[in-house]
Parts: sequence; C-alpha cells; structure tokens
Amino acid sequence: MLEGHFLLSSGRHSDFYFQCARLLQYPDRAAEALAPVAERLRADIRRGTLAVDAIVGPAMGGIVVAYELARQLGLPGFFTERDDTGVMTLRRGFEIKGGANILIAEDVVTTGKSSGESAAVLEALGARIVALACVVDRRDSAAPPLAWPLYAACTVTVGNWEQQGCALCKQGIPAVKPGSRKL
Ligand SMILES: [Zn+2]
Repeated sequence: MLEGHFLLSSGRHSDFYFQCARLLQYPDRAAEALAPVAERLRADIRRGTLAVDAIVGPAMGGIVVAYELARQLGLPGFFTERDDTGVMTLRRGFEIKGGANILIAEDVVTTGKSSGESAAVLEALGARIVALACVVDRRDSAAPPLAWPLYAACTVTVGNWEQQGCALCKQGIPAVKPGSRKL
C-alpha cells in the first residue's frame, strides 16, 4: 500500500495505491495471499453453487492473479489485453468455448471497470461470467454494485474520487499513475 497522490486505472484519484505487483513478485507470498480465495472458490464449486471452467485476468494486473488461482484450483488460466487502440481483446489463440463458465481475476477492484470490459469481450465470445476474484477489494460505498459475486483476499476502505473533486490536485500536487492502463 503506497501513500501519495495517484491516478488509478479507473481514472479516479486517490491518496492510496495498492501495487499488488510488489506482493505478487514473490511466488510464495502470492500463493499465501490467494490461498483463502482459492479455498472459498473450491468450497462453492464443491457445494455446486459455482461452476468454473477457466480463469481469465485482464492484463497487466490480472495475469499473475489468474495464473495463481488457476494453479491452486487446477484450472486453465489466461488473460485479456488491450490492443493498439486500447480496446480489451482476447488474443494469442486463447479460446472460449460457448457457454464456458469464466471467473475473472484482478489484482485490485476499485470500480470493476477492467473486469467489466473483460466480461464484455468474453461474453461476446459466448462465455458466462460467474464471478470475480481479486487480491484487494477497495471499492467505496459510492461505487456501483458489481454484476457478479466477488471473492477478495482482503477488503479495505480507502477513498477515491473524480479529478474535479480532488483536494490533492487543488493543492497542485502532481498525480502519479502507477498502473498500466493507457487513458
Ligand atoms: Zn488528484
């Protein structure tokens, strides 16, 4: 968790940023952080309340999360990515079979925007999106509800806001953009 003035991937501003790549660079810590998420997913799959055929993470943040959850659950894991025009796509010959149950994996969920974009791409290919999973759920109370159940390793309450209402911008403090989305 970093403190400062950040432009989030969602386009919103915040004084906190979760750089999950710093945690996920250590495979043993990635495994430990995501084990409780995998356990809850496994329990719901066993109970028959959830069916998952593959795990898909939006690049960049979702790639390692999708991989690690796929590894722990014994499922295929792959990713969507932005093309040269910034549109989320499924490339590299990754295939979605019609009616496949897909779990979307993210590092951080702020508004669910990246997940929503990936979901739209996958649904257009015939997938059924069954749930989201993430390391950090940092949605605030004003965030619109997600369309799917969310399995998060941790839930934190930190603010995020539009640029127009940003006190840090008003103070002339430059915002840094640690994420990878091109705006
Ligand atoms: Zn700002």
